[in-house]
Amino acid sequence: MSINELLESIYQQAALQLGRGEVAQYIPALAEVDANQFGITICDIQGNVHSVGDAQTPFSIQSISKVYSLTLAMQNLGNKVWQRVGMEPSGLPFNSLIQLEQEQGLPRNPFINAGALVVADMIESSYATPSLAIKNFVRTLAANPEIQIDSKVAQSEYDHRARNAAAAYLMKSFGNFNNEVEDVLMNYFSTCAIKMSCVDLAKSFSYLANKGQCVFSNKRILPEQQARQINALMATSGLYDEAGKFAFEVGFPGKSGVGGGIIAIVPGVLSICVWSPALNKTGNSYVGIEALKLLSSHIDWSVY
Ligand code: GLN
Repeated sequence: MSINELLESIYQQAALQLGRGEVAQYIPALAEVDANQFGITICDIQGNVHSVGDAQTPFSIQSISKVYSLTLAMQNLGNKVWQRVGMEPSGLPFNSLIQLEQEQGLPRNPFINAGALVVADMIESSYATPSLAIKNFVRTLAANPEIQIDSKVAQSEYDHRARNAAAAYLMKSFGNFNNEVEDVLMNYFSTCAIKMSCVDLAKSFSYLANKGQCVFSNKRILPEQQARQINALMATSGLYDEAGKFAFEVGFPGKSGVGGGIIAIVPGVLSICVWSPALNKTGNSYVGIEALKLLSSHIDWSVY
């Protein structure tokens, strides 16, 4: 079976689940998205790109952006990043605040919201226009100068920022936040509101499949060891309190977003993006996870 035939058959099977799950409601601008969209793109480290379904449609990348921010923070600060954020799974929903007070404002990992906000604070200190720096970074990674920030989604998130603001102010009270909270929040939301397609996303993550080097620009994005560390964090924390189940059933490092996208990496081989907006109870794409389960059962690649 060719890769395109395999993708087509996975698409047909996973699409039977369309209609299950629910589009994120807590960000009003995201609640308007048509839930029945579904796309898959695979990009191998030779730069070959294969897609099926709505793979060219841009969508809100949301928490997938946390990987780009972490990458830039690691480029700028190296190991100092880990003085302000941990590397342990939280086992709790992405926006939970429970551990944050118990652990004196040190977030468990960079992929829960509290951790991503600390990373956004690091980015705020490094760039004059942080969300533009990230946008330009992803444009280079995806080899697509058309990638944009959806300011309507960013504003909608800012208008409903109470929980993220609570996390940020709590960290500020513990001395783990250096910049103005409201500025960092706006830049964090703008980064989450970047719109990319499955094709853009799968291409932009080629560096994590390719030992830290971007397949499309040939640029070294991170040293090999740091790319491996990000993959490890994605494997343990990329899908929040579903990370264990995802490792068990799919077996790739992955990162999800409440826009319904999931990126998965098969190190040394390829990057995959699946997208379908309706989410399960842990905030991960319902059909997207089904597609990745099918894909991992058909292809004999697992990091385990
Ligand atoms: N922007 C979203 C938030 O902060 C990101 C959450 C996600 O995609 N899991 O709530």
